[in-house]
Amino acid sequence: MLVILTNINLMAKTANYLRQTSLNEHQLNLVFKYPIGNVKHFTIKGNGIVKHVYDIENTSLPSTQNIGQYKAKGVQAFRIAQYNKKVLRVVIEATRYMKGSFEIKGRKLTLLLPMAKGSIKKQVTYKKHVEQKVKKNSRKNTQKSYRYNSKRKYKTIILDAGHGGRDVGASSKHVREKDLTLSMTLKLKNILQKMGYKVLLTRTKDKFMNLKQRTDYVYNRKGSIFVSIHANAAPKKRTKGVRYEGMEVFYLSLKNSKRISKTRAVYRGRKVYSKSSYRKMVSSWKFSQSKALAHLVRKNVLSNVGREYKIYDKGIKRKDFWVLLATKMPSILVETGYLTNKDEVKKLKDSHYQTLLMEGIANGINRYYGLL
Ligand SMILES: [Zn+2]
Repeated sequence: MLVILTNINLMAKTANYLRQTSLNEHQLNLVFKYPIGNVKHFTIKGNGIVKHVYDIENTSLPSTQNIGQYKAKGVQAFRIAQYNKKVLRVVIEATRYMKGSFEIKGRKLTLLLPMAKGSIKKQVTYKKHVEQKVKKNSRKNTQKSYRYNSKRKYKTIILDAGHGGRDVGASSKHVREKDLTLSMTLKLKNILQKMGYKVLLTRTKDKFMNLKQRTDYVYNRKGSIFVSIHANAAPKKRTKGVRYEGMEVFYLSLKNSKRISKTRAVYRGRKVYSKSSYRKMVSSWKFSQSKALAHLVRKNVLSNVGREYKIYDKGIKRKDFWVLLATKMPSILVETGYLTNKDEVKKLKDSHYQTLLMEGIANGINRYYGLL
């Protein structure tokens, strides 16, 4: 029962913003600087709860806004976040019947909670209905994401939290890539283990590893697939027309690779790939499987995150990253988002957002193996 606030400093001085919030047993009150315009309400059902979404147009969160924890009967969670530049989104996850009605009185928006007048009569029948639904859905849901399947124990997933130690990776004001990748990778490890997979990690703490140590770790272990987690940053010199936002999934390409140009790629004295075998390799099992894995991970992350947040799809890319080159198993690298994008970095720091991203990757892995 937590109110998560994402603060964005993108409003103009004249724009309307949230000044105050308060909660009582029956209602959540939001008070804005100026009278409120349009509010759209809709619901998303699933997992035995109904998410009531309120999009408040032309409003934003001020940078100094701070809301603690709110608890209310029949509410699993409150969430407030900037949905896009113009829309502030409030999400109330109801475990009991809630009409979703709201009132606008000038600067004040009142959202009626499950125990509000008029809904109490419906609670009894609704409770039964929800309980049945919860049972049904939790079965369905766990099947989809966390349900244990003993067949998965034959698959070993090697996870790589990008960077670490003195290698900070990308960074913005208050976040470093190495911390985000570790936090996300540990989440992914837990999810995959709950599902029944064997999981190995190149690092489990803030530790420096050079690329050779990293790829040696992978090279010397029998893994089924390799997933490297990263976060992105826009270059100092930005290219016009390029959007520095969103997720992209990489798998290996050697087409324009400098690493293969000298007839062979040597990795720690070992010939990793020779140019003569390049064509063979492109049509090889590792390539086609990496591609399949990349597509499934992309698709499942977009759908899992997209249920609650906007996520920009940068698509599938190919590159000759060392970590992708020096592995013998299907390998992908996920750039989860841009730390240099104000909106996105707030989301990336959010634990719930990270969970949604990692669940998406795990769902993609399940699809890849057909072990749903
Ligand atoms: Zn990185």
